[in-house]
Amino acid sequence: MIKVAKFGGSSLADAIQFEKVKKIVNSDDERKFIVVSACGKANEEEHKVTDLLYLCAAHMQYGVSPDSLFSLVEEKYHKIVNDLNLKLNLDEEFNEIRSHFSKEIDTDYLVSRGEYLTAKILAEYIDGEFIDAKDFISFIHNDEVDMDLSQKRFRELLKTDKKVVIPGFYGVLPNGNIKVMSRGGSDITGAIIANLIDAGIYENWTDVSGIYVADPRIIENSLSCPRLTYRELRGMSYMGANVLHDDAIFPVREKNIPINIRNTNKPENKGTMIMADCKELDEKDPPRIITGITGKQGYTIITLVKNHSSTLVGFLRDLLGIFEEYRVSIESVPITVDTFSIIVQSKAISNYLYEILGKIRERFEPDEIRVDENVALIAVVGRRMQSLPGISGSLLSEFGRNSVNIKVINQSADELSIVVGVENKDFEKAIHCIYDRFILEEEETL
Ligand code: ASP
Repeated sequence: MIKVAKFGGSSLADAIQFEKVKKIVNSDDERKFIVVSACGKANEEEHKVTDLLYLCAAHMQYGVSPDSLFSLVEEKYHKIVNDLNLKLNLDEEFNEIRSHFSKEIDTDYLVSRGEYLTAKILAEYIDGEFIDAKDFISFIHNDEVDMDLSQKRFRELLKTDKKVVIPGFYGVLPNGNIKVMSRGGSDITGAIIANLIDAGIYENWTDVSGIYVADPRIIENSLSCPRLTYRELRGMSYMGANVLHDDAIFPVREKNIPINIRNTNKPENKGTMIMADCKELDEKDPPRIITGITGKQGYTIITLVKNHSSTLVGFLRDLLGIFEEYRVSIESVPITVDTFSIIVQSKAISNYLYEILGKIRERFEPDEIRVDENVALIAVVGRRMQSLPGISGSLLSEFGRNSVNIKVINQSADELSIVVGVENKDFEKAIHCIYDRFILEEEETL
């Protein structure tokens, strides 16, 4: 089996972390393709290399010298090379980067150098082969990767028995310019490579031992999930769990490649396994009823009441059309008789709220229209909830017992997740009460 192992910035923050990565990589011959982020911060005083590079670009664009900031990047890399006793000389690389410094600096090129240099160092350190992402990850337009072309180019480049080290986060546009992905994009590069080489597994090494059931900033010592499905992960990451980049699921899901989230600082921990279908494993070892509890604050609910509207064909489409005119994405639309609630992210609608309300009034002459701001959505996700009676009942009564007022409830018919809207002020309390009732109690009965 061929494995792709992607290491995040915190796994490559200094020479000590590089040593851990080398041990992990060399402990398994199947770990053949290594993808790296730019070096992260080794301590609270430091900054992530990518952040520094973005800042350098901004300085130049405003005509301010980036020299002192860029020296921090240089010093960081030189120190790692020295601490690892490598012969690698990065002077030429830095001269080349500096030769691009100008007011018209290409930001994508500059920030991509973080991943590029990190990969160069790791390739030297593990005696692997460096392959540049710019030579094969081919974007069609802005965000879409041409997988066929990327695969063809990658195959042409692969002429080694050594382990291959590839910088994450960027690729090349049809005009030959470098293009970076969105922040955290090395996760996507890892997933793309897993797809291109039909990997048996995509390991994503980070600084936590997998996906937590709930955000550890809210639930101290939250348990983690041993395994989950792609759909559960998508449900959780869309609603706030952010161990893995949202878009990293798609390239691996297409080929049914499992993702394994692992901790570079605790390699003995098996982390979280994410796959298309957990049925076989679940039969032997049943999962918790609830896989994850995630949520976000900052939603707005617009509710329109109009007598007889439920019987009108096309009413909902016309209503949603107004939001489309303003390019406001809709999170969910709970409906009861003659009452339509539209849930959107507050930041997406804040500039147009009054215009949208005006249009709704004008076009539909509603009997009532109300706006609830400061709403939090909490998603309770779990494949075992499917066809298991009583879960939503206990969930809601738990909220009742803890005086958490529910504004909306939404459950899709596949019963994979239940989304509950509460006031922002009840957000943490709501997560605590679900965690205590469903996760802790279940854990205690084991
Ligand atoms: N270095 C980039 C960032 O900080 C990409 C990555 O780490 O995945 O966003």
